[in-house]
Amino acid sequence: MSITIRKAAVIGSGIMGSGIAAHLANVGIPTLLLDIVPKQLSAEEEKKGLTLEHPAVRSRLAASAIAKLKKTKPSPLYDDAFTSRITPGNLEDDLDKIAGVDWVIEVIVENLDAKRSLLDRIETVWKPSIIVTSNTSGISINAMAEGRSEAFRSSFMGTHFFNPPRYMKLLEVIPAEGTDPQLVQDMKQFGETVLGKGVVIAKDTPNFIANRIGTYGLLVTLQEMERGGYSVEEVDAATGPALGRPKSATFRTLDLVGLDTFIHVADNVRLNVDNEAERRVFTPPTALTQLVERGWLGEKSGQGFYLKR
Ligand code: NAD
Repeated sequence: MSITIRKAAVIGSGIMGSGIAAHLANVGIPTLLLDIVPKQLSAEEEKKGLTLEHPAVRSRLAASAIAKLKKTKPSPLYDDAFTSRITPGNLEDDLDKIAGVDWVIEVIVENLDAKRSLLDRIETVWKPSIIVTSNTSGISINAMAEGRSEAFRSSFMGTHFFNPPRYMKLLEVIPAEGTDPQLVQDMKQFGETVLGKGVVIAKDTPNFIANRIGTYGLLVTLQEMERGGYSVEEVDAATGPALGRPKSATFRTLDLVGLDTFIHVADNVRLNVDNEAERRVFTPPTALTQLVERGWLGEKSGQGFYLKR
């Protein structure tokens, strides 16, 4: 058996959702990109006299993610027309349209309750031919699947892409207890042959494999920095090119990931392990939580540890 994806839907048009939609579109898969309906008009929409009911306002989040993708620097990794294969929409008006796709990928905020309630909505229009996956960084796939029908569970698993999806080769595939084992193998093959990824099948443990290690490394670096009184620039210099890594080593990586998302990802381990020492390491430093409280979320908000250039 193998998977044929004629159409896909990505729900959540943030950093990862827009990047995954771009990757799918770039390999030729028409993709629906959905997000929530904005609760407030932007200054520009107000100036134009639009209301919250206007279709352009209702699908603004996904549409502006696509507009940002269009500005992506010309890259040998993208063909010229990839954005024309992405259709923006919103979850209230367009949820029914996911019944016409072969693969739905959940890429919303890293929060179990939000993900579960979105899956509840997806289940209302789901049919057995549709594969549903989550791009969670580390929330339990079994916790998302719990209480759902056996048929839905057999088509559900984690597919964890890395940031940015067009460059990062790794794709973790995470089966839940009821996932059809053949579908897991087919997804691995699809990821390797069609999406061009290196696929690892991971167990459903907090943060799976790569983020358990990666988040650990970043948090220990932050803790050592506080202890040693080093500056952001010093740490980035010492953990970047000096170690043969790109300059986006520690703090530029955090800005790219999103500081709010990074805290959620650290919490996935902190709140789900018994080992006290590991819990201590996975506790984000106060400086990080303070930046998030101030709205400094990294590149997506224009300011994190660095100002977006
Ligand atoms: P983001 O903050 O950039 O985007 C989240 C998007 O989800 C936003 O557009 C928001 O409007 C939408 N959203 C929020 N709540 C919603 C809801 N209830 N229903 C529908 N849409 C909702 O986040 P991101 O960085 O793209 O992360 C998305 C997912 O991917 C998370 O699970 C995250 O852990 C995971 N992930 C992130 C990275 C990363 O480096 N940022 C890497 C791998 C995986």
